[in-house]
Amino acid sequence: MLRPFVFLIFLLLQLPACTRNSDRADFQFQTMGTVAHCDLELPPRLTAAESESMVLAVYDSVNSVFSTWQTDSELSRLNNFPADSALTVSPWLWECLTAADRLHTLSNGAFDPTAEPLMRLWGFYRRQGTLPGKAELDSVLNLLGNWEFTASGKVVKATENTCFDLGGIAKGFAVDQAALRLEEAGVTNGLIDLGGNLFCLGGAPGRADWRVGIRDPLDRDRYFASVSVTECGVSTSGSYERFVTINGHRYGHIMNPTTGQPAEGILSTTVFAPTALLADGLSTALFVLGVDRSRKLMAELDEPIEAILVVPGQDKGKARVLITPGLENKVTLLPEYAESYELTLW
Ligand code: ADP
Ligand code: MG
Repeated sequence: MLRPFVFLIFLLLQLPACTRNSDRADFQFQTMGTVAHCDLELPPRLTAAESESMVLAVYDSVNSVFSTWQTDSELSRLNNFPADSALTVSPWLWECLTAADRLHTLSNGAFDPTAEPLMRLWGFYRRQGTLPGKAELDSVLNLLGNWEFTASGKVVKATENTCFDLGGIAKGFAVDQAALRLEEAGVTNGLIDLGGNLFCLGGAPGRADWRVGIRDPLDRDRYFASVSVTECGVSTSGSYERFVTINGHRYGHIMNPTTGQPAEGILSTTVFAPTALLADGLSTALFVLGVDRSRKLMAELDEPIEAILVVPGQDKGKARVLITPGLENKVTLLPEYAESYELTLW
């Protein structure tokens, strides 16, 4: 009588394991001041809980390097390092700094990884906006762009108060690292999203692509369009993500390093690129550059890049959604937006 009983216990013990190891993981959690979300098709022998722990561990490690909030992060160490001394940085920080440096050059300074003192002056870190005076603004503008690479992996700040804020690129980097880790674990189809910075691996279950929603910059809880994508990074920048209000005016968190003012003129930029890092950095750069200068920057890149820029309509007319030719048959405007948004080939 003992044998069937033991067998039954064995079966019961196995059941939870079978249901746990379903072929799909869909989870989200808070990190880096935003929401991380993943929708993954799981390979055999990878559980949803394991995939979630992997992504969490990657984001924790990224945070310990790039956080400006954590005083013991590697970036905080660089920011507190004396001027004119070379600091040898980790491979992750080096990868982001060199990518940021490239974008800084290509965008003629519109993308600036040292916008930190500007962000601070306008009150973005305190979440309490203050309109800066001209003298303060001028002294902060003098701190921008003052870094140098003296050798591979070695960074020097040329002025004491120059400080890095890699918020314009680090989430994309984190997403690429999570995608790499998941691919190593056998994931071939998955959507990895960190606050609007995505990497799309393969396609959604039963499909060859993913349909990615683009947030309505005038109502961030809604999506105005969907785009068909596969194997690429996608990133959207908009002033609606983070802003301060001063005298009733909303100022967004992307700074124009030439004027020292928060960039205005574009409602949102979405970039499709081979990596989430490049998509992230470029979406921030295009937001500062505006329509005409963005087109020039994109023409100078070797990588295949597509973009969607949403610009306000004239005289309260329809907002224009400018799309690059490669997206022509991939973007669908949701029907309820037909009256307020207009797709235009860019
Ligand atoms: P999100 O953080 O919503 O993904 P972005 O990728 O567009 O938005 O980056 C905005 C962040 O980049 C700001 O919060 C700030 O940390 C940093 N930043 C602000 N202005 C610039 C700039 N001109 N160039 C590079 N980074 C910037
Ligand atoms: Mg960005």
